[in-house]
Amino acid sequence: MSAKTFRHGVHPPENKGLTEGRLIERIPMPAEVVLPLSQHLGAPSVALVKAGDRVYRGQLIAKAGGFVSVPLHASVTGKVKAIELRHHPSGRMVESIVIATDPSSPQTLHNEEPVDWESMPAEQLLTMVKEGGFVGLGGAAFPTHVKLSVPEGKHVQYFLVNGCECEPYLTTDHRIMLDWADAIFLGIRIIQKLLGAEKTFIGVETNKWDAIRGLQDRVPADLPCELVPLETKYPQGAEKMLVTAVLQREIPSGKLPLDAQVVVQNVGTVAGIGELFSFGQPLIERVITVTGPGIKQPSTLLVPVGTALQEILDYCGGITEDASQILFGGPMMGTPQYDLRVPVTKGVSGIVCLTSKQAAGPRQEYACIRCASCLDACPVFLNPTQLGALARMGRYDEMLENYHLMDCMECGSCSYVCPSNIPLVQRFRVAKGVIREEMARKKNNAA
Ligand code: SF4
Ligand code: SF4
Repeated sequence: MSAKTFRHGVHPPENKGLTEGRLIERIPMPAEVVLPLSQHLGAPSVALVKAGDRVYRGQLIAKAGGFVSVPLHASVTGKVKAIELRHHPSGRMVESIVIATDPSSPQTLHNEEPVDWESMPAEQLLTMVKEGGFVGLGGAAFPTHVKLSVPEGKHVQYFLVNGCECEPYLTTDHRIMLDWADAIFLGIRIIQKLLGAEKTFIGVETNKWDAIRGLQDRVPADLPCELVPLETKYPQGAEKMLVTAVLQREIPSGKLPLDAQVVVQNVGTVAGIGELFSFGQPLIERVITVTGPGIKQPSTLLVPVGTALQEILDYCGGITEDASQILFGGPMMGTPQYDLRVPVTKGVSGIVCLTSKQAAGPRQEYACIRCASCLDACPVFLNPTQLGALARMGRYDEMLENYHLMDCMECGSCSYVCPSNIPLVQRFRVAKGVIREEMARKKNNAA
């Protein structure tokens, strides 16, 4: 099998060796979980419980706040301590349901039962995914049922499972593909039926040959599903790159994979949906990689959603003396964390602990030397040189109108290769934020 890929991109050091051999280990139930009502893209969930209520593991505790939103379930059996503002991985304070775990409870799943999915029509399967509170587990945390809702007049030819995990250090999806093949294939059956897709492809980078071969050998004979080995390159796990690499279909500016008759889901999400339809487990726990030179015992853990960062670091022996940065997610697109009380939310795929040697601190910035390395790196063929120059001058409108700023997916490839240390992606994030605020202001004024 030869490996496919997309054009451009970068090759940061993989650094996956610390955890790729580590089996998934369930951590003990934490004494408390903090479940933010906003841990997905879209409207926050709406609490259905109050302080003092007894709740059971897997019980619905907040309903979706709109179509682009998801419900929330208790990740432990215990008592609701409070609904209050708590620290959130985004750096903000967010309304959260705090549950004190009942130490005497066996923590069995509320309403655990097999699901007769074969007799369910597509709409019912979709409703179950929505009620399960699923979001993309690769990091984006976009509500899964929204991506699986095919609008009138659209058709899905292929379902594409994202097993790239192209961020350095992280091995969460790798482990899931090695250990949870049955759940993955059940998830694929459900989603394929729900979408009416004719075939599924699973794209996996060739730094995970054991997963490629293992899954290929276990594809059920009656399931139209094919493994596609992909060259190891960042950001291959970005949806547009993945569609291009696997199917050689380009997704134009402003369009979605659905416009190319494709729907993409992260492999961990697919496995989670398999578990939902096996025994009714909603999204209440997830696998994370805890890794990097700044953690004493790198591990692959199964953790209840809402577990505090501090608790997880302690379970892994604590951070090393020279640890200087903790990220939720990988070093290319992850979010630095400054408060160890923050909870692991649904979208956190890993915790990476770096020392000052690897951490991306402020570096001396030099003038652009017009080397064009950033143009060669950009996977969506933008002009980061020009965008960077305009961002420096605050000419955001020009970036938007003439240089397609909103197509930037903030992958950081341009910053990574820039020999002048120009913080390109950071400037693009600021520019996009300012433009979004301006658009929202104009919309409000017009209403
Ligand atoms: S951050 Fe944006 S501009 Fe830079 S390489 Fe990625 S997509 Fe291109
Ligand atoms: S990589 Fe940096 S120095 Fe080279 S052209 Fe791009 S912005 Fe300029």
